[in-house]
Amino acid sequence: MSQLLTEHDVVIAGGGPTGLMLAGELVLAGVNVAIVERRASQNLVGLRAGGLHIRTLEVLDHRGIADRFVSQGQVIRSAPFARMALNISDLPTRHNYFLALWQMHIERILADWVGELAVPIYRGCEVTGFAQDDTGVHVQLSDGRLLRAKYLVGCDGGRSMIRKTAGIEFPGWDATTSWLIAEVETTEEPAWGIRRSEKGISAIAKLEDGKCARMVLNEPRVGQGAEPTLHDVREALIAVYGTDYGLCSANYISRFTDAARQAASYRDRRVLLAGDAAHVHPPMGGQGLNLGVQDAVNLGWKLAQVVHGTSPESLLDTYHKERHPVGARALRNTMALTAVDRDEDRIGAWREMMTELLQTDGPRKQYLAMMSGLDIHYDFGKGHPLLGRRMPDLDLVTAHGPLRVFTLLHDARPVFINLGEAGSFDMTPWADRLQLIDANYGGTWELPAIGRVTAPRAVLIRPDGYVAWVGDLITHEGLADALTTWFGPPVVRCERRAYAVAARIGSPPHSASLERH
Ligand SMILES: Cc1cc2nc3c(=O)[nH]c(=O)nc-3n(C[C@H](O)[C@H](O)[C@H](O)COP(=O)(O)OP(=O)(O)OC[C@H]3O[C@@H](n4cnc5c(N)ncnc54)[C@H](O)[C@@H]3O)c2cc1C
Repeated sequence: MSQLLTEHDVVIAGGGPTGLMLAGELVLAGVNVAIVERRASQNLVGLRAGGLHIRTLEVLDHRGIADRFVSQGQVIRSAPFARMALNISDLPTRHNYFLALWQMHIERILADWVGELAVPIYRGCEVTGFAQDDTGVHVQLSDGRLLRAKYLVGCDGGRSMIRKTAGIEFPGWDATTSWLIAEVETTEEPAWGIRRSEKGISAIAKLEDGKCARMVLNEPRVGQGAEPTLHDVREALIAVYGTDYGLCSANYISRFTDAARQAASYRDRRVLLAGDAAHVHPPMGGQGLNLGVQDAVNLGWKLAQVVHGTSPESLLDTYHKERHPVGARALRNTMALTAVDRDEDRIGAWREMMTELLQTDGPRKQYLAMMSGLDIHYDFGKGHPLLGRRMPDLDLVTAHGPLRVFTLLHDARPVFINLGEAGSFDMTPWADRLQLIDANYGGTWELPAIGRVTAPRAVLIRPDGYVAWVGDLITHEGLADALTTWFGPPVVRCERRAYAVAARIGSPPHSASLERH
């Protein structure tokens, strides 16, 4: 290994959407983070993801950067299911739309943000190996440099070398069919529009220049490898359309399949996985990039607290516990959406049945909440329906004027909102890491797919926007435990006082110094 050694708290392998988002989250939390990215620039060949779903827009809004994306995308107030468009505009969120924006633009905007936050990026080289020990990870780069980090996160895509080298299994479903995406020139005019077959969907659209066509072509058999050729495009065209339309050249050709796989574990000691490195599935439903950005937002603040020593390493286990089920559901949904596109009589009958069902408000809203990430529910035990769900972006009234909840999350710090009598809660033992806001809110509380819920008197919100505790003013039961679980033990300034309080309420001193006024 090389003599040069540069130290970081966290090294991220891969500067795609997931790696960029994670780097932003970590640097906001004061972590010394660096990205290693194989590509020499952020330029992305090809189109890939076509936009952002509601929950992703919300998490970007948490950090005050949603407008950067919205201003460059196209707002679409419907979402597709099979062959119909479902109205999405009545979901209870400020971002009640799908934002159409190609991945190359999403990555560019994220990279600009990360650049403003001064995250170092080792560009044009890749992670070629790593070795972890009890205190950190040595990370070997292809240009000979050696990095040392406390943690290494693999955001290096579906073929993740980090996942493979860590020996993390990747069980799932092999591909049954594959598609080519290509931008090509033909001498004859192709058949524009969508064509379905028993194996799946194909489509041809005119490109802006009027000369070239963008094609998504179902291949006659499962294609192998990532680098398809013009010959493969010709073969697929003939199989679907009976002609190659005088195919003469291609600007770009890529392949995707309906394979679906998920890492058995998102963590192996000091190595973690996020985004496509942790899960791959068909692109139907447009979930992958969105899932990766949200993985990053779940992991970032937890990893930061562990790096800073505020929380024990066990906090990192909650990353797998919370995000693995979300990924598993995306695998299931995208597999179902791939099947529903097939032109086969029995699937057609099922599609019609579902289409009928989705005309009614309840199933429609539930389906849309699922596909947009709004219905995510982390299991924090029994309690108010808000517990473990996303905090709505309420318009609060405070002593300093009106304030949106999401604005409070811009710094990626936890927030405690007291909606009762001002001064009802003393957060002094956590004051170094938590914002306490006394506020009023007179409106209704409506949760996606659930409907109206009773107004809580206080909520504890994690930096990723999920509610960690819901309470009233009579009892603060469970609050000290929730604060300790998520944000580490309190700062105890006077040991004797802490032990006295602990003895009085019968709990250990680390969770005892939260007192009611
Ligand atoms: C045809 C198609 C359509 C899609 N449509 C959608 C959609 O509509 N909506 C949606 O949400 N998602 C969609 N996706 C999925 C989406 O593109 C991915 O989920 C997303 O790119 C995953 O982001 P990531 O950062 O996890 O991984 P990637 O984008 O794959 O980024 C990984 C990065 O790691 C780098 N890298 C790899 N190995 C190394 C290494 N060893 N060292 C250093 N760097 C390395 C790569 O260069 C790359 O930049 C689509 C995908 C395809 C193929």
